Amino acid sequence: MPKKRLQSPSSINTFNQCPRKYFYRYILKLPTKTSIQLIRGKIAHSVLEDFFDANVSNLTNETAEPYLRQSLQDLLMNHWQKQESEIQEFNLNPDQEKFYFAETMMMLLNWFQQFMTKVEQHQGTFQEVFKKLTPIREQRYVSEEHYVQGFIDAIEDIDGRVHVTDYKTSTNLKISDDYRLQLGIYALLYNEKHGRLPNQTSVYFLRHKPKYVAVDDDLLESVAKSIEFVHTNTKSDNIDDYPLKPNNLCKWCDFHTICFEQTTIKDFQEQPDQPVPKPQQR
Ligand code: SF4
Repeated sequence: MPKKRLQSPSSINTFNQCPRKYFYRYILKLPTKTSIQLIRGKIAHSVLEDFFDANVSNLTNETAEPYLRQSLQDLLMNHWQKQESEIQEFNLNPDQEKFYFAETMMMLLNWFQQFMTKVEQHQGTFQEVFKKLTPIREQRYVSEEHYVQGFIDAIEDIDGRVHVTDYKTSTNLKISDDYRLQLGIYALLYNEKHGRLPNQTSVYFLRHKPKYVAVDDDLLESVAKSIEFVHTNTKSDNIDDYPLKPNNLCKWCDFHTICFEQTTIKDFQEQPDQPVPKPQQR
């Protein structure tokens, strides 16, 4: 029986970029490289996830800002230290590591500033407002209908108005087709589980601000077609059904040596400096 594979925004975008890359990554599950940018993205996500677990019971509107700012900084320090052994694998010099740490701090403080502005826009005690603005975090959704899954970074429900967002630490602040597809899939997933579409979807560029994507029938229809297209074309386990699609990202692709330098898959798997598996895409 041909297989139907559980897809994700990342697997669909990989297939669209290059079917052979999809084959290596999602069917053969060859290891892929991580990077300092990915690790620090993972750290920033963990900080934003834990931020809302702060004990705010004794805070007032006056004391909340300095307390939560310090809490955010401490969280970054703790999560950075937890990842220190992975960070050291990149052989960064002390200045380079400081740069990435400071840049991550800058992004989180930028987000924090915007969060506190939002707090000021709501009526009530600090505890009431904090509770209202606390999103559901890192929620996994699986669609039975489309056989696709996604991990949504944050879902805010403020007075019945639902906003689904994905945090990004990237320097490119444009809503790419990949991001549009990701948000469209999140909207489909949310709709299937809750019987209604989110009011807003956005990519939250942490070094800047959220950018919104309207969820309309066109987006949902094109996303459903993209998912179906990838299902149709990923049933086989035969490499010949996954053609190479050379593109301008090939030189950074994990599998460049297999495609263009005659490294065999067996040799790639046995390389002594085999790259460590990439963490979940951030
Ligand atoms: S190097 Fe290029 S052609 Fe080869 S798998 Fe990667 S993206 Fe595809």
